[in-house]
Amino acid sequence: MEIKTRNPFSGQELGKYTEYDANKMDEVLSHIRKNQPEWSRNLEGRIEYLKKTLRPNLAKKKEELAKLMSSEMGKPISQSLSEIDKCLNLLDFAGDKFLEFLEPEEVKTEGKKTYVRFDPLGTILLVMPWNYPLWQVMRAAVPAMFVGNGVVLKHASIVSGTSLLIDEIFESPVFHSIVASGARINALIPKVDGISVTGSTSTGIQIAQEAGKYLKKVVLELGGSDPFIVLKSANVAEIVEKATFARMQNNGQSCIASKRFVVHEERFDEFVEGLSNQFSAIKIGDPLEKATFLGPLSSKNQTEAVTKQIDDLRKIGKVESFGEFSRGIVPPTIAKVNGSYKEEVFGPVAIVSKFRTHDEAILLANDTPFGLGASIWGDSEEAEPLAPRIEAGMVFVNKIVASDPRVPFGGVKQSGIGRELSKFGLREFANVKTVWIDH
Ligand code: NAD
Repeated sequence: MEIKTRNPFSGQELGKYTEYDANKMDEVLSHIRKNQPEWSRNLEGRIEYLKKTLRPNLAKKKEELAKLMSSEMGKPISQSLSEIDKCLNLLDFAGDKFLEFLEPEEVKTEGKKTYVRFDPLGTILLVMPWNYPLWQVMRAAVPAMFVGNGVVLKHASIVSGTSLLIDEIFESPVFHSIVASGARINALIPKVDGISVTGSTSTGIQIAQEAGKYLKKVVLELGGSDPFIVLKSANVAEIVEKATFARMQNNGQSCIASKRFVVHEERFDEFVEGLSNQFSAIKIGDPLEKATFLGPLSSKNQTEAVTKQIDDLRKIGKVESFGEFSRGIVPPTIAKVNGSYKEEVFGPVAIVSKFRTHDEAILLANDTPFGLGASIWGDSEEAEPLAPRIEAGMVFVNKIVASDPRVPFGGVKQSGIGRELSKFGLREFANVKTVWIDH
């Protein structure tokens, strides 16, 4: 089957790619399997690869890659460039810290020597989404490879060109991108040693079910509907700008975007007014123009899905949009609701509701099947005690939820299983091996 990619703003066709058939996927896998043992034995070589091949290759291709990412999925070009910078930082962090994270850990026992070491599992399949087409790949692939694994990347079809350019940038015998649509990769699941999925909850469940049949380790980074909690003590005038970025980043298509704004009743009107002012000032347009802050959603399907969700929100609240629905763009939208809305809205829509007490704020914040991130805004003495009560993998106080190589990233409930980044993420695709030597 042929996969076509298209610019979601102009509608222009960008490329045609032939899907890999079963034989070609098997060839890729055997090539990686053949090279992985040597790769896994050569830690020095892996460090050198990060510093002397991967990093310079990425830096060299920065402009070309940013343009391709923005053309294929509509992200404003300034945000594609910062995504690449973030990946370069990850590589620097990996070069500085990963070795330390993989040091064997000694354990005191009655034996002569006991320790835990971190060995590779083999070959890991990455199933990745289009929304951060480089970052999602890097934060899964770099740790998995550093541990000594090989990696097969199956990217979202709409970013097939980006996926092949990433392959070129990795330039490694143990990394390969395959072009294939979703279900086709089921055939690979029994043949790999672990699977990392970043995508929607339904995709995560389907892959985990298939992986379960063969007892393959999975890490699942799935959907989110993060609350942004505004306490009575918050400085609303200052935080509306942050709230706007938290919701609008990546055209509203981020798993950790703040999607539900839970606001103390005494600050509610001020917050909605401030947010409306910010939303109406957003520069909307062609993602390839430097000044654009909000471009089109990634595809026609995505635009239709979010437009339908806005219609559903009208049934439970008052909805206002700031701009035109055209050329794939869904304008910034605020929905003031009374009831709860359980779906993840993957677009520039802020769902706002009120609370009176801390208990009510927690109930509203947790009133979702997801549990990825949450942010709380106000006096930190008031906010911090709420953190343990939030059902999420990450809680940030007076800071937008973000992925950062120094701290673990991941969710609970329908947002997934396992962690990425930090030493916790690095060890997900390691065989945590006990070695006990007796006298
Ligand atoms: P998606 O689930 O549609 O697709 C993700 C990947 O899975 C793609 O490569 C797709 O081709 C593949 N896929 C889809 N169905 C499959 C199947 N049955 N078998 C095998 N592979 C299959 O998600 P998307 O639309 O590309 O991305 C948006 C979703 O990703 C949102 O829900 C978002 O919250 C989530 N996401 C989560 C994180 C996180 O870290 N938690 C990060 C980014 C995006």
